Amino acid sequence: MSRREELLAFADTVKGFMPRNEGLALHRLALEHASAAGATWLEVGAWCGKSAVYLGAAAESVNAVLYSLDHHHGSEENQEGWEHFDDSLIDSVDGRLNTLPTWQRTIADARLEATVLGLVGPSLVVAAHFAQPLEILFIDGGHGAEVAWADFAAWTPKVVSGGLLMIHDVFEDPAEGGRPPFEIYLAALESGRFVDVASEGSLRVLRRVG
Ligand code: SAH
Ligand code: MG
Repeated sequence: MSRREELLAFADTVKGFMPRNEGLALHRLALEHASAAGATWLEVGAWCGKSAVYLGAAAESVNAVLYSLDHHHGSEENQEGWEHFDDSLIDSVDGRLNTLPTWQRTIADARLEATVLGLVGPSLVVAAHFAQPLEILFIDGGHGAEVAWADFAAWTPKVVSGGLLMIHDVFEDPAEGGRPPFEIYLAALESGRFVDVASEGSLRVLRRVG
């Protein structure tokens, strides 16, 4: 098994909400797109590191770096009483959800510690202090309207011309899921700054133009 195959097989074992076909598309499109060695990629929404392994496996082979950003306390739908709650991720000290130890274990087991770098904190605070242009931006953070729109406003201007914007959990049919990821996807297209490149399941991939 090649290193890349090994990582893709490992990604299947990581906890998370990324179906295999979408993870493989994330990986393949990042790899196909990658040009400049030393490029900077960033994902908003790390959870336990599953998408970070799919993207990190691509980053490693092209000498890019992936920042994996999360405050690690989960989104609304991850909290107790909601659909995606997992009580094994509760920190017994303060009773809050904490995915950081699991994320760290994932990245260590994948041997991606020099490729996938954690950024721990609220997305908007990090964005306000993050000046590095991005070759790839993957938005998969909070899916509430306020958070999703704030991520759109704060992060998409950092994508370089020719760079990729990937958005997860885009559902055209409201019966399948929440609206905000779909709405920011439409806003990206309507802005004239992005064009459609590919899609797989709920993953949408756009390219920055101009
Ligand atoms: N991309 C991951 C899944 C991310 S789940 C994967 O496919 O494996 C969404 C994550 O966004 C959660 O871990 C949650 O903690 C994080 N999140 C939500 N709102 C955030 C915010 N404002 N700042 C930082 N992280 C946030
Ligand atoms: Mg998602």
